Amino acid sequence: MSNSLVDNLKKVQDAIPESVCLVAVSKTKPIENIEVLYKTGQRVFGENRVEELVEKHRVLPKDIEWHMIGHLQSKKTKKIAPFISLIHSIDSFKLLNEVNKEAKKNNRVISCLLQFHIAKEEAKYGFTEKEGLELIESEDFKELNNISIAGVMGMATFTDNNAVVRNEFITLKKISDKLLLISPSSKIISMGMSGDYSIAIEEGSTMIRVGSTIFGSRN
Ligand SMILES: *Cc1c(COP(=O)(O)O)cnc(C)c1O
Repeated sequence: MSNSLVDNLKKVQDAIPESVCLVAVSKTKPIENIEVLYKTGQRVFGENRVEELVEKHRVLPKDIEWHMIGHLQSKKTKKIAPFISLIHSIDSFKLLNEVNKEAKKNNRVISCLLQFHIAKEEAKYGFTEKEGLELIESEDFKELNNISIAGVMGMATFTDNNAVVRNEFITLKKISDKLLLISPSSKIISMGMSGDYSIAIEEGSTMIRVGSTIFGSRN
């Protein structure tokens, strides 16, 4: 079991350029699985539930970089603010404001990605291009000194149609290009999961979030 985990991780690492950051998405998976990959040098792990993230942070080595990749409710922000490395899922000004407030209490600047809605599906969270860029240019945004916008994140439609997926990633890359004109340090493009990370990298991804290909399928 642990050997196959390491093999799976190596396969993904070998398939991607060194410049692309691999977030190992460990949601629902036990502490022991994370420890196995930690021992090989993997330090970046992604989770989508606050309670699980807090518990894993509590028991695992403190040099792990924890990424929040799932929808975040404002009221739960305070639980992760002391330690979170990157929040991928900023989808409202209200949430960004709350992250700023909690970051300030912890004397930190928290790095965040703006999540954009690029998929066909209704249910996925995220800004439209217009909403996201307006937020960055607003006066309210300029007062948030304890967050930094490190880039963008998006999820493609869950489909076998690669052309659809590719087009959505191209859309996110274009949004990133526009954001960079306003905010030159917002360089990260978080796109690509187990099923579509190769396409995402071809279209300019700098950070992929891979779960099941490494850890096996989730129940
Ligand atoms: C679960 C999840 C992933 C990883 O999905 P896999 O298909 O298992 O690689 C990536 N991004 C987000 C936002 C997720 O919730």
